[in-house]
Amino acid sequence: MTKLLEGKKGLILGVANKRSIAWAIAQSAAHHGAQLAFTYQGERLMENVKELADTLPGSLIFPCDVMQEDQVTSLFDNIQKSWGGLDFVAHCIAFAKAEDLESDYVKTKKDGFDTALGVSAYSLTAVCQKAAPLLEARGGGSVITLTYLGGDRVSPRYNVMGVAKAALQSSVRYLAYDLGAKNIRVNAISAGPINTLAARGISGFTDMLKMVKEKAPLKRNTEAAEVGDTATFLFSSLSRGITGQTIYVDSGYSILAV
Ligand code: NAP
Repeated sequence: MTKLLEGKKGLILGVANKRSIAWAIAQSAAHHGAQLAFTYQGERLMENVKELADTLPGSLIFPCDVMQEDQVTSLFDNIQKSWGGLDFVAHCIAFAKAEDLESDYVKTKKDGFDTALGVSAYSLTAVCQKAAPLLEARGGGSVITLTYLGGDRVSPRYNVMGVAKAALQSSVRYLAYDLGAKNIRVNAISAGPINTLAARGISGFTDMLKMVKEKAPLKRNTEAAEVGDTATFLFSSLSRGITGQTIYVDSGYSILAV
């Protein structure tokens, strides 16, 4: 039987280590037949990403700090040279200053706001600008990003990251509208809390895990592999009618009113 992503080439941004949701997405996509390119932010993480990428034969790796426009440009130039096109992109990147995730949202300074919104929301638009011609070259494609319920509702201490996720989800809708005529789909996956490096920076994260396990309809926490498999579905032609959406992979927690 042909695999779901056989012959497809995808770019994964945001692998920091083996716990990263981006890595679970990569594993699922590779299992379903995709060839992958990865990015790392700065030399510090290169070895980590290279070690993981080497376990998936045929993978490429490139540097890319999404705040550096020249690095985003050269990333897509390199992919153009290596592959001549692209079928899907996973944007799994977020950052806010620690001080902005510790206290009250009302205390957020402009610098912290700009940083969180720039890295966590604007970067998707920057990536789509450069990815669009490569996706178009292959007849269209699929872009996904990762968000959290704190972008729809208040999640105490998620603060400026919640505001960034709201902007990210809105960007998904505008990007889907702009790129739809090129057969490029753009969607977000809203994941339940998962124990990763980024998540450990959020005060009260362990309590979030406990609350979801206790209250969510499925009575368990979200596994990164569940997000990975949903991403594979969104990269594949099985989801060809879906764009501009936020899909919740959260054990059903987001349906609750209490
Ligand atoms: P993670 O493993 O720490 O991944 C976050 C990634 O963002 C890291 O690879 C990090 O690289 C990268 N990044 C930050 N600033 C960057 C920049 N300027 N340029 C390029 N890359 C940059 O944590 P994760 O939980 O898997 O996060 C992935 C995504 O899932 C994020 O958007 C997060 O908000 C979202 N999400 C997470 C959860 C959760 O509970 N874990 C739930 C819902 C949504 P460095 O390590 O080098 O900074």
